[in-house]
Amino acid sequence: MAIDAAAGLKGGCQCGAVRYRLMGEPTGVNICHCRMCQKASGGPFMAFGGVRMSEFAVSRGVVSTFASSDIAERGFCGQCGTPLTYHRLGSDRVSVTLGSLDDPNAVEPATQLGAESSVRWLPRALGAPETSVEQWLARAKIQTVHNRQHPDQEA
Ligand SMILES: [Zn+2]
Ligand SMILES: [Zn+2]
Repeated sequence: MAIDAAAGLKGGCQCGAVRYRLMGEPTGVNICHCRMCQKASGGPFMAFGGVRMSEFAVSRGVVSTFASSDIAERGFCGQCGTPLTYHRLGSDRVSVTLGSLDDPNAVEPATQLGAESSVRWLPRALGAPETSVEQWLARAKIQTVHNRQHPDQEA
């Protein structure tokens, strides 16, 4: 997929305090099942795409960081906790979480890391019965929801 370098891909955290922009097309797009990614996300795996550090710009707010090991630093929003970045210390690259992109379909993972930690139930869970949020809300008899999630665009 060709990405307009001038427009770039944009993303940010759930509350909108942190917004970023990518000036290059993400490469090395992968999902990672390792235990550190499971803990960092609270999910069964994380999905990342990387660009050069010079192609990553924070356009609003500040990315908080946690040095999850002596080789890497993970970035997140200090206000809402959304995981945003992974940076191997000393490397010229930074990866962003695909779920934090305004268009999470913009790039597609081609490899998987941390296969040894992949949760056994993942293939079965992805084959489980599906429900849309709309259907779920109707079933729960919830008429309206005023969410506090920042829209997938610059505000
Ligand atoms: Zn936030
Ligand atoms: Zn990982």
